Amino acid sequence: MKILVLNSGSSSIKFQLFLMDKNESIASGLIEQIGQENGHAVLKANGEKYEKFVQIKDHHVGLDIMNELFRESGVLHDLKELDGIGHRIVHGGESFKSSALVTPDVIKKIEDAVVLAPLHNPGHLAGIKTAMSQSGDVPHVVVFDTVFHQTMPEYAYRYAIPYDLAKKQHVRRYGAHGTSHHYVSMQGAKFLGIPYENFNAITLHLGNGASVCAVKNGKCVETSMGLTPLEGLIMGTRSGDIDPAVITYLMRQGELKADEIDTFLNKKSGLLGICGTNDMRDVEERIEKGDERAKLAFDMFAHRLKKYIGAYYAVIGKVDAIIFTGGIGENDQDMRQKVCDELAHFGIKIDANLNKDRSNKGDRCLDASGATIKTLVIPTNEELMIATETLKLIKK
Ligand code: AMP
Repeated sequence: MKILVLNSGSSSIKFQLFLMDKNESIASGLIEQIGQENGHAVLKANGEKYEKFVQIKDHHVGLDIMNELFRESGVLHDLKELDGIGHRIVHGGESFKSSALVTPDVIKKIEDAVVLAPLHNPGHLAGIKTAMSQSGDVPHVVVFDTVFHQTMPEYAYRYAIPYDLAKKQHVRRYGAHGTSHHYVSMQGAKFLGIPYENFNAITLHLGNGASVCAVKNGKCVETSMGLTPLEGLIMGTRSGDIDPAVITYLMRQGELKADEIDTFLNKKSGLLGICGTNDMRDVEERIEKGDERAKLAFDMFAHRLKKYIGAYYAVIGKVDAIIFTGGIGENDQDMRQKVCDELAHFGIKIDANLNKDRSNKGDRCLDASGATIKTLVIPTNEELMIATETLKLIKK
């Protein structure tokens, strides 16, 4: 069965085509600079690259070009040949507790959640509507980044602000990266041979955006991102947790205006704000050269992460595994080693050679003998998770 996964933004569409009989991706690509002068579309399939540089005026033209590239490569001739199309949606608000087949009511609810994700949901909606207009009777499914976190108990997702106002304005912890946390926790349970409904894990999605999730008996019970993906860990350019009074203080000092706060916290803070780069590889290169700010940024990142692991250990009780994923989680041996060494008293103990080994890029366990909590590295695969969810819903 052929499933296409679309991740549509306001000016780009990422896509991946899966053959679900083998859980295998057979093509992937990107349409970018939609709405601008110099559009670019690329498709990789059959070990070849198919590319076009043309103006892409809107999502409709974008998908037309995707189809042309599919036809050129021979992997697909028409969207109508597909068994289903799955769409990644960043924010489902409070309405969605699971993935859903697209209906007019579902579209309305995604529109209602635009206020909570103004940068993402409008692009997703453009992608859904365009793809529906080009794919005949093919069923469409939406898979939400927020859904995995909807099992959090109310005492975990509420903020301690006036209750009625919070309810009225839908202010609560929603979390993000849910599809990734769900995927790596399911894979982790499978890897360890533990039934998912009995599996307890702390999943660490560490990329440019970073978040932690506490999974108890296969369900999310706590996560570090909040109303928006700003809360929690230190990230590439986001501050993560901060005393909100820092903002009002800086405003009173004349350093910050109201309309600058979002950019200040989301784009100018995090690793970038501390040491001048948001890329962990650069941070580590600078540390090698003796850059003290880079060392501080690295240590702050590790410290915040360690605090969250400790807190989630307390939340879950018995932890089977901690799971590293995302660009930093999958590749950064120094960060993994530091955090795990500093948590030895929890029973987390990794083998330095296994941790350094770059030959194995797949799911792996880093344990040294004597470890009582498993340490896994599971490369995330949100697109496969979306394709799997899509297939599950269209089969129902
Ligand atoms: P992502 O957002 O998941 O693509 O992750 C991006 C982050 O992963 C960036 O901070 C990269 O510097 C980091 N990253 C990727 N490869 C490595 C590596 N080999 N060592 C350290 N960090 C890495």
